[in-house]
Amino acid sequence: METDPQWEGDTRRGKAKGVIIRPMLDWFAHAFGPDALAEVATSLEAPWRDEVVAGRPALGIVPTGWYDERLASALADAIVTRASRTMTEADALRAIGAMTVDRSLGRVSRAALEWFASPDTAAVSAQMFWRFYHSTGSISASIAGSTMHAVGNWGLHGEKWCAVVGASSVRVLELTGCRDVHVQRHTCSGGESSCEMTLRWSPR
Ligand SMILES: [Zn+2]
Repeated sequence: METDPQWEGDTRRGKAKGVIIRPMLDWFAHAFGPDALAEVATSLEAPWRDEVVAGRPALGIVPTGWYDERLASALADAIVTRASRTMTEADALRAIGAMTVDRSLGRVSRAALEWFASPDTAAVSAQMFWRFYHSTGSISASIAGSTMHAVGNWGLHGEKWCAVVGASSVRVLELTGCRDVHVQRHTCSGGESSCEMTLRWSPR
């Protein structure tokens, strides 16, 4: 764990705040048990295995810490792969995204989303929220009818972690009142170039 991510000179080595990593671990431990989470920790390859503590709640990831996006990627890989044995990957991502948003947004901002926000204001706010939780990179989102298209550029990361991060926007759109939100298309460059996600929902 390191602090001061803003001092990173190499923008390809981004960090994510623990507050968006920990809900994924808590969800997994709740759904599959603490032993399964400990197995995730021991399955990690060096150097990431040394960054977590098997047996600790959420493997010792703390909400206020900053962690390499590649550590979060290794965790997401292991968790989504393990969860996909007994549920669809889409269902796992949806559950993780919902828990991430519900935990990381304070009660006040969640209420604001529920009462005032539209998909358009959520799209306009995307970059602000991005900077709360990621040390590098940028995202831009636009709405056309009942579709949101988002393009992100960020540090080196894995496809499953990219999908987990994107899954949070499903929950945000649900909180603005959209129904039947789903990810229609997701392409991940791993940080080599841009990543894109298209989400759709039922027209009102
Ligand atoms: Zn990606």
